[in-house]
Formats: sequence, structure tokens, C-alpha cells
Amino acid sequence: MGDLLIRPHRAPARVQLMDDPGPLGRFGEYGGRYVPESLIGACRQVEEAFRSAWADPAFRNQLAGLLATHVGRPTPLTPAVRLSAELGVTLLLKREDLTHTGSHKINNVIGQALLATRMGHKRLIAETGAGQHGVATATAAAMFGLSATVFMGERDIERQALNVFRMRMLGAEVVPVRTGARTLKDATSEAMRHWVGATEDSYYCMGSVLGPMPYPWMVREFQRVIGDEARRQCATALPTAVPDYVVACVGGGSNAAGTFAGFVDTTAKLVGVEAEGGAGASRGTLGVLHGVRSMFLQDDDGQVLEAHSIAAGLDYPGIGPEHVHLRDLGRARYVTVDDAEVVEAVVRLARTEGIVAALESAHAVAWVIRAAADGTLPAGSTVVLTLSGRGDKDISALKELL
Ligand SMILES: *Cc1c(COP(=O)(O)O)cnc(C)c1O
Repeated sequence: MGDLLIRPHRAPARVQLMDDPGPLGRFGEYGGRYVPESLIGACRQVEEAFRSAWADPAFRNQLAGLLATHVGRPTPLTPAVRLSAELGVTLLLKREDLTHTGSHKINNVIGQALLATRMGHKRLIAETGAGQHGVATATAAAMFGLSATVFMGERDIERQALNVFRMRMLGAEVVPVRTGARTLKDATSEAMRHWVGATEDSYYCMGSVLGPMPYPWMVREFQRVIGDEARRQCATALPTAVPDYVVACVGGGSNAAGTFAGFVDTTAKLVGVEAEGGAGASRGTLGVLHGVRSMFLQDDDGQVLEAHSIAAGLDYPGIGPEHVHLRDLGRARYVTVDDAEVVEAVVRLARTEGIVAALESAHAVAWVIRAAADGTLPAGSTVVLTLSGRGDKDISALKELL
């Protein structure tokens, strides 16, 4: 009894998870702002502008309005009735696949484009791998009358011709990157290098919860609309109001971060599902890349390795710093699934629910299927799963596999 009375005074201040990481941008020992001197000022300006915008109800209302009129929010929380019955759990799908442009990336990009406009910039710079963040950036640029320059590895340009065409049709300039392995990692390095000489008139639009402060925090905040909506929808969809599990796929970690943010203060267990060949949280080691201290796939010399996944959107060799922090604290766990499980999951979801999910999103579905089968998910569990995108872009890849 005495203990109970004394403890509140002696306990350290309760740490609020998934909150403002402070001016240093630290999530535990991860995060930070490891950029060349010439970008420190530009990052500070973005941070100041975001702090002021995020505290400004007019900005928030304008963003919410755009998400409603242009993106199609709120997205539904769809009960996966037939798949649930087969698995013996209650599975609810948060349908980011139904957004304009077909994935959650648009939530973040519209937020950043609105911020860029507020800062007086006329041009967006972005990196892209498979081209999805590039397409979202080109879309937002067109909406706001901004120009967009998208850096893309030469190999990815060859592999993703359709998205390159989409970006150009939307009016964006696509710059081929010929260094290194000519994929996402190199495109990001090149885009940041380009920003150094263009900070006066250009805004860097980052595609995931990566990069220097304020990006990991800001991108999570722009994506938290997923988790906040799902949380409200659960209040009517579930008798318990809060699900037992919240599951999302993890590339850099933005759809997962946005989803987790809505549930981090509940009893829900948070699960991030990585690709076996791109597993930053599961198999990475501590390092610094693209301005942030986090976990990356590296060789013994600290050289960052190439990631490999059937899902191009999970082909990043690292993970956002906040996820590593949540993992260290035991608040979230990170698991991997392999390509074969993912392909099976796409087909199973298509045939039970009539939804063709993106290969990225199917990683989360694959884990739920496996976990329900092996008892990791107890029978009767309630699960919210973020379906980050639709599978149209993957049809030709799937055609070769099936
Ligand atoms: C880009 C992408 C991802 C991975 O990015 P995160 O930042 O981890 O969310 C996942 N799903 C889809 C559909 C994507 O386009």
C-alpha cells in the first residue's frame, strides 16, 4: 500500500512513446541528423516549418481537407470475413490500397508538398526505388503547381518503365543515377547531394521514416492518419475497441509507424513484418546512412549491402530509427517472411476477399497466415492489418511467378 502511494512520486516521468523526439531527433540511441554542414541549416528550416505547421490548426485543417477530397480518406476498415473464418481469427484490413495513386505514400507526400508550399519552395526533390514514392511526389507536385525532380537508379528505371512513364506524364523530371548498384540507396545519396546545391528554392521530400531529423518524425506524423483512423474505426468494429494485434509491413517503416502511432498507447501487440532480404530490424547492425543512425544491412567493413525482396518497396537495406527504438523497448516486434510465403498470401487474399494486394502489403498478410497456423496468434485473436497498397503494379511480376 505504502509502495503504491510513494511510487508515483519516485518513478521517472512517464516516457511518451511515438511523440516529439526533441530537437536532436533522438529515438533512444537512434535517429539524429548526420548530414554535411551545408545541409544542417536546410534541415533546421524544415524542422522549424514543420513544428509551426503541425501546431497550426489552419494547416491541419487544410491537410485533412485535401486528404478527404483528393486522397479518399478516411479509408475503410474492411473485415476480411472469409479469410478470418479460415484462419480462426478476426482480421480487419486498413485499406490504404484504396487511396488515390494506390498506396499510403500519398498521405506523406501531400503533407510535405503542403509544407513546401508554406515554406515558399517551388520545387520538390525526391528519391525513388520502384517509383512509387516518385509517382506520389509527381502527383502532389502537379496538384500544388510545383516542379518535381526525382532521382532514380538506372537499374530501377529499366525495371520500372511504367512508373517512369507515369512520373514524366505527371510533369516530373526523372534523373537517372549511374553510381553504385544504380538502385534506391544510390538514388537517395545522389538526391541528397543534389539538395546541397539547391536548398534555396527546393524542398527535399523523403519517402519513408528515414533520413535526418525532422524526417523520421515528420513522415510518421503525416502517416499517423492511418493509425488514428483505424483506432476510431475499431471502437465500433470490435467489441473490445482495441485489437489484440496490429500488423504492418516494413520497408523503411512509414506505413507501420503511422499505423503503430494510433495504437502505441494501448494493449495491442505491434508487429512489423520485414522482407527476409531487406530486414533492417531483424538482421541489421548499427550504422549511419542518409543522415540517420539506425540499423542497416552491412558487411564486416560497414559497407551497406544491397537489399533483395520480391517487393520493390521493401528493397531498402535499413529501417527507420524509431522502429529500432520500439524494438529495443519491447513495445513492437519485428519478424520476417520469405518471397514464397508472400506470393501465396497474395493469391489467398485475392481468392478469399477479392483484394489483390501489393507484394509489400502481402508480407503482413503472410505473417498473419503463418502465425494463425502455428499458434503464435491464438485462436480468436483480433488483428488490424494495414494493407499499404494495391497490387496492380505487381501484376506482370506475378504473372511470371504463378
Ligand atoms: C513503399 C511501400 C512500402 C514500404 O514503405 P514503408 O515506408 O515501410 O511503409 C510498403 N507498401 C507499399 C505499397 C509501398 O509502396
